[in-house]
Amino acid sequence: MRMKKKIANIIKQKDSFLILSHINPDGDSIGSQLALTQALKQLGKTVEAVHYQPIPEIYMSLPFSHHIKVRQKIDKEYEVIIFVECSSMERAGFKNLPKAFYINIDHHLNNLKFADINWINPRSSSTGEMLYFLFEELGIEITPEIAFNIYIAILTDTGSFQYANTSPLVFSICSELVEYGVKPAEAALKMYYAQPLNKIGLLAQSLTNLEIDKSGKIAWLYIPREKLLNEQGNQRDTEGYVNLPLSIKGVEVAMLIKQLEEKKYRLSLRSKGTVNVFKIATVFNGGGHHNAAGCYLEGNYQQIKQKILNEIYKHLTKE
Ligand code: 5GP
Repeated sequence: MRMKKKIANIIKQKDSFLILSHINPDGDSIGSQLALTQALKQLGKTVEAVHYQPIPEIYMSLPFSHHIKVRQKIDKEYEVIIFVECSSMERAGFKNLPKAFYINIDHHLNNLKFADINWINPRSSSTGEMLYFLFEELGIEITPEIAFNIYIAILTDTGSFQYANTSPLVFSICSELVEYGVKPAEAALKMYYAQPLNKIGLLAQSLTNLEIDKSGKIAWLYIPREKLLNEQGNQRDTEGYVNLPLSIKGVEVAMLIKQLEEKKYRLSLRSKGTVNVFKIATVFNGGGHHNAAGCYLEGNYQQIKQKILNEIYKHLTKE
């Protein structure tokens, strides 16, 4: 039986659900988590959506975003736990999860298939796209709110329909989502034109640290820890920053390097075309996709920078 059908059957049979998505959340993880929560509520299920970290402010404008609770521990019992967009169980952030029937829905090629049912489709643009078909299987009524959350998942994971994963199917699903009530201009306003002022302030400071290598093909921003954390000690939202170095003419690979702890760094990698940054991230036990990937590195800044540059050089186009 196809995985999608199996998952639909489990959803029909069971009653209580926990929905998790990945740390450092993005539009696909949050949009998918919200769309799935709404769909299960529509079926009359008991459902909770929990996130390990605070949700970046920009996603708080999505329909039903208040349904996502932020907790560092899961101490309730559920019949089913559904992981959306988590390539491994650790990506959900929690140390000890309660026993339950685990379902894993993801579009990452390197998904570890850790659950009781694993529905992994790397050909899908996003987990939101996969959920669209799951909802069809379940006979979910696509309300304007569900449509909006799926649209955000697809919009953000295709880099606003710019990445190579922007297939004909993406456009046909999005066309249907627009029929269901999504207004693309409203989605763009919420995602790209509603940034908190302090996010732009940090970006302005970070741009003064913009570096570019000798070849002109690799550019990066570095954010030291003292700039990254807010007054509460939480990481500031930096989503989208990496697109600035990528936008430079001639740059093929861009990075955002964030210092999380004295010797721990988080890297976001982006590529414009031929360089497969997923392959680069996996060298450092990270993951992602051809055009967008991430990983963690330990050491001092100069060491980790050199390590990652060396790896990127192996993949750059030769002139
Ligand atoms: P971002 O740079 O926006 O955090 O992540 C880009 C893509 O890479 C996303 O699809 C994200 O899920 C994936 N990704 C980022 N960091 C990691 C990581 O540490 N491990 C894995 N498996 N995937 C990652």
